Amino acid sequence: MHKNKTSEPQIIYKEPYVKLYLHQENKTIKLLLEEYIIGTAAAEMPASFEMEALKAQAVCARTYAFRKLLEDKKYPGGASLSDDINSCQAYISQEEFYRRHPGYKHLYKKVREAVEQTQGEIMIYHNEPIDALYHSTCGGRTESAVNVWGTDVPYLRSVKCCYCKESHHYESVQVFSVQDFTNSLGVNNNCRPQVQISENTPNGRVKKININNRELSGEKLRHVLGLPSTWCVFNINESRVEIKSRGYGHGLGLCQYGANGMALEGKSYHQILKHYYKDIEFSQLKY
Ligand SMILES: [Zn+2]
Repeated sequence: MHKNKTSEPQIIYKEPYVKLYLHQENKTIKLLLEEYIIGTAAAEMPASFEMEALKAQAVCARTYAFRKLLEDKKYPGGASLSDDINSCQAYISQEEFYRRHPGYKHLYKKVREAVEQTQGEIMIYHNEPIDALYHSTCGGRTESAVNVWGTDVPYLRSVKCCYCKESHHYESVQVFSVQDFTNSLGVNNNCRPQVQISENTPNGRVKKININNRELSGEKLRHVLGLPSTWCVFNINESRVEIKSRGYGHGLGLCQYGANGMALEGKSYHQILKHYYKDIEFSQLKY
């Protein structure tokens, strides 16, 4: 059980139950916040990861959820949280985890332990819960919020990550026929595509790109083509478009495979989180 240090700021939160909207079933359930965190950590990170990585994930999930609760965003059924990853975090119930991973009950138990060992712990910056974004694999360097949103978030700044090389998403190649490529983007397909990256972030991710005179944001490009990330370079010939990508996800905050790499090197979950979120502190929710 995590012991709170008396020097840590404390946030009193008297309602340990949350309402979660299950978007595929279109129903809302009520469960304890810590039970929700177990289901989220189990859904968002491979349970085979190292214990310290799972603990880092649990603190991220709890911080992200607590910030949502404070925002009091309402999903259907009066829920404050949703299992739709497009607007919140994924969630898997214990029953569903057992059904999908028969013979791996011990891994769910491991996730539960990671959550219990960090019970109530969140990350704060200037006494506010941080926007604890995380992603699968950064590809060697995380991204700064200012380069994605145009707004600086002091704790979401680019950091070097030499810990996620084991991820199969570290580097990958996507190949499209010229026709599929131009059709997907809705651009003129009479000739070899003219692709010009108009703006990169200082870390190498595509910010703006011009394809056959149509300008797109890097995020739009990623979404339309289903690319793993916006960190990509193009190789084009008459018949095909080859896109080499680095990493998987938006690149902001914790790199999950990097967290596992750090854990394998013996780093604690506090060290992991302090690497990916700059100048944060830890705080304890009091139930
Ligand atoms: Zn990484």
